[in-house]
Amino acid sequence: MSLLEEYAKVSGEDVIAQLRQLAAPLNGAKVVHVNSTRSGGGVAEILTKLVPLMQELGIETQWEVINGEGDFFECTKGMHNTLQGNRTPLADHLLRAYETTNAQNAEILRPTLEDADFVFIHDPQPAPLLTLCPARKGKWVWRCHIDASHPYRPVWKYLQQYVVPYDASIFSLAAFAQELPHPQYLIPPSIDPLSDKNKALQDSVVADIYRKYQLDPERPLIAQISRFDRFKDPIGVIQAYQLAKQFVPALQLVLAGGGAADDPEGEAVLAEVEAVAKGDADIHVLLLPSDAHVEINALQRAADIVLQKSVREGFGLTVTEAMWKSKPVIGGDVGGIRLQVIDHHTGFLVNTPEGAALRIRYLLHQPETVKTMGAQAQAFVRENFLITRHLREYLTLIVALLHGAQERIELG
Ligand code: UDP
Repeated sequence: MSLLEEYAKVSGEDVIAQLRQLAAPLNGAKVVHVNSTRSGGGVAEILTKLVPLMQELGIETQWEVINGEGDFFECTKGMHNTLQGNRTPLADHLLRAYETTNAQNAEILRPTLEDADFVFIHDPQPAPLLTLCPARKGKWVWRCHIDASHPYRPVWKYLQQYVVPYDASIFSLAAFAQELPHPQYLIPPSIDPLSDKNKALQDSVVADIYRKYQLDPERPLIAQISRFDRFKDPIGVIQAYQLAKQFVPALQLVLAGGGAADDPEGEAVLAEVEAVAKGDADIHVLLLPSDAHVEINALQRAADIVLQKSVREGFGLTVTEAMWKSKPVIGGDVGGIRLQVIDHHTGFLVNTPEGAALRIRYLLHQPETVKTMGAQAQAFVRENFLITRHLREYLTLIVALLHGAQERIELG
């Protein structure tokens, strides 16, 4: 079965038909995506699926990865952190490594890139490539995946010189967009419904997870599955659970996250969480390995309600993942959670542990509402946050770039 046929089964035949229609005028067009890694991280995850799908739609799509070493990655990691708000200037020798590495990569990629009809450059790592391809014939788009809502100005100013000459840029949320002299498009992230983290699971896999973590399938379960990070407010989740438990004594809580071992801050947060949870056998604090995709999937399915009580959030893919599994989500009223949790429809937006407790208590007393909201949550994700929607927006953007300022585009 082709990939498109597989996606038709989850996203809908009409969605795939629309993709084919959008792609038809782009048949044979040469598209190149460039990023800095083939595996690990959200960008690689998206491209792993997006590129073969675009190929299947008849677009000549290539995925190139730039090579770099120590100082280059130290620089781009610093850029990533400063664009997300860290206020640490980047040392000159790191910036030189950034420039030299891009120049070296341009030597290899120049023929491909200059010949392409459309080039998508993902994130800051390969951003200077455009300046290094003076004979480019296609349209170039800079795709920023990071939360650039509060960038550290000196670093953004440095990067801006490379971004300004692009034909367009894409940000994930309106709040992340920047002052730039070209059109900016908003394309929110998406999840892949066929990945291990989101695919349908047999009941036995979910039953195994109850057993493995000594959860009682007969009693209500709420869960937050997220990095141990203060912005995700795990302590607030425990407070909400404790308040709700006064009214629902059988309540169980799972707080699952990973990555604490190599993140000193995460380790401190985990220690705090464990201290607060101590003595309550119904709070399950789980440290998951980085490849625990099926376990995360099963835990999200095992929960009656999923929480994401963040006090600051980029988009919040964990919310999308839970909603896709037909769970109402009680989420912090911040960032991309607001795009997903439609208050009283796909879940509830909250600002305090008390607010979260109230909603937990309400939902656990209304199993029918849990079902209805869960179904609405899944439908909302199907409509807005699956990879097929993501692909549709890339195609629409390409068609729009092809037609320039024309007001009306006939797809035939
Ligand atoms: N995640 C994971 N292991 C964990 C906790 C989270 O793989 O222990 C995944 C989660 O399923 C989601 C992503 O990491 O796909 C987190 O993305 P999100 O946008 O929610 O938050 P971020 O961690 O990027 O702030």
